[in-house]
Order: sequence, then structure tokens, then C-alpha cells
Amino acid sequence: MRSVKEYGTPIWVIGNPIEHTLSPRLHNVAFDEVKLPFRYFALEVEEAELNSFLTILRQLDSPGGNITLPHKESICSLIQNKTDSVKKLGAANTIYRRTGELCLANTDIHGFKKLIEPWQQMAREENVLLLGAGGAARASLYSLGQLGVKNIYLWNRTKEKAQKLREEFLELNISLLSDKQLQGGEVNFQIVINATSLGLNPGDDSPFPKARVNSKMVGIDLIYNRKTKFVRIFEEHGAAARGGLRMLVYQAARAWELWTDSKPPVKTMLEAGKNYLGL
Ligand code: NAP
Repeated sequence: MRSVKEYGTPIWVIGNPIEHTLSPRLHNVAFDEVKLPFRYFALEVEEAELNSFLTILRQLDSPGGNITLPHKESICSLIQNKTDSVKKLGAANTIYRRTGELCLANTDIHGFKKLIEPWQQMAREENVLLLGAGGAARASLYSLGQLGVKNIYLWNRTKEKAQKLREEFLELNISLLSDKQLQGGEVNFQIVINATSLGLNPGDDSPFPKARVNSKMVGIDLIYNRKTKFVRIFEEHGAAARGGLRMLVYQAARAWELWTDSKPPVKTMLEAGKNYLGL
């Protein structure tokens, strides 16, 4: 049997289901490149097992780990040290240690900012439309607020959820959009962000109508597992478009910094993700 010394100190991502996670591929190729003695594993953990997992984690010398669905919210009641973004969002994706104590961070915020980086100034000056009102939309809104984006429009299939999100971010002065206003109308958008899960499956349609896209717009999709129809319709119109892999890679990179106090080889991680997904 191989020892921990041979494998490296374990770092886990926990979730349920977890078998489709890309994270071990991103982290392990990077740990190998810089020869850090860590090994990243995916572990299926049920809600009822969360406490036991944390007890084990506290006893090991692991620098932390990641949390994915469905535990991003429930972990917040089990670890008391939290960053401001975790307190506001009520969701975390990273566990790290400070002076021996487990702490929680939400590095999706950092990932989203890197995803939108080339258009941050444009976002501050123009109308931004965010599609979705789930966890990814909530993290995106927090990031947009931090970037100083003022003109935010929000659309979601279930209107009550959009309304609730608007109330959580009253400081951002968000305008809600009806289905009719999404299809066409008086408001034009320069940046459209898809934070819905429509596009995850092959054959999924775009949540934003093709007829509204023009070459001056920017389409940003948080979905990273394939080139979505949303991204395609922007590309077809000669508009700038980007899928969500960069967000995934940069949230991983920020977590890595919290664990190791060093910078990861982001290019290697990005290439590993692209190669695996065939993008
Ligand atoms: P979530 O909390 O389950 O929210 C899902 C959202 O998608 C809701 O707004 C839901 O609307 C909407 N939706 C689902 N099916 C739809 C449909 N057929 N038509 C229109 N809207 C639909 O999920 P999440 O955590 O926010 O994740 C959303 C997406 O972001 C996922 O695809 C995920 O892969 C991606 N993501 C990417 C990253 C990254 O690093 N790139 C990070 C996080 C998430 P209702 O409220 O009406 O149900």
C-alpha cells in the first residue's frame, strides 16, 4: 500500500454527487508541475456525514479543501470563521486553515471577477443583464457590486426567486425583467451573463433570445462543461463571448493560494481543463 508520503497530503472536494467534478484534474496537474506534496481527491459526502468529515479534517494536517453542491450552504453553520463574502452569501466553496483553525471562503467571487476581467470597465458604464437567481447568480451579483457595476438587470424563470435576490442586494438597485422584456423591449444590454443551468445538457437552448444579440455585445456563460448555445449565438453575431472555465480555474487558483500561500500555475490548470473538456 502507498503511504501518505508517496501520495502527498490529501486535499478533498466534498459533494454529492461528485464523480463529474473537474477539480482533481486542475489541481493535481498543478501540484505535479510545481512539485508540491499535495494530492487532491473527490469524496462523496452525505449531509449527515458533514460533521464527521470535519472532525477527521481537523485531526489531519490537510490545509483544507473544497465544498460543492449540495453542501455549500450547510457547511456555513458548522465552521464559525468566515470571510465577509461567506457571511453575506451564506455559501462557501473553500475550507482553509489559519492558526490551526478551519475557516471558510467563497473563491467563486474571485473566479467570477477574472471571468469578466476584460469587460470590467464596460460593465461599470453600461447595462448588465444577469440571467438566473441561484447560487451562481448570487455570487455573480456580489462580485458585480464589488466591481462597482451600477446598472444591473435581473431575469429568472421563477420570478419569486429573482425578487428575493433583489431584496438581498438592495444596495445594488437591481431592476427585475419580465419574460416579455427579456424577449424584446425598451432596455438594451451590452453585457449578458448566463448564470442559469440552461446549457448544461446537450441540445439545451439559450436563455437569451438570438434576435437580441448584436456584434457590440458581450456574452458570458458560467457554464464550463461545453460550448453552449448561448455562447454560440454571440459568436455567430461577431460579439465577444466566453464560457465559464476561467471562473472554475480561478476559483481553484484562489483556493490554492489560501492552502499553500503561493501562486499556482494557472495556465497549466486552464490547459488541463480545456484538454479534458475538448474546448
Ligand atoms: P442553482 O442554484 O440550482 O440555480 C439554477 C438556476 O438556473 C436557477 O436560476 C434556475 O431557475 C435556472 N434554470 C434551471 N433550469 C432552467 C431552464 N430550463 N430555463 C431557465 N432557467 C433555468 O445552480 P447554480 O449553482 O446557481 O449554478 C448555475 C449554473 O452556473 C450551473 O450551470 C453551474 O454549472 C454554473 N456554475 C459555474 C461555475 C464556474 O466556476 N464556472 C460556478 C458555479 C456555478 P429557477 O429559479 O426558475 O429554477
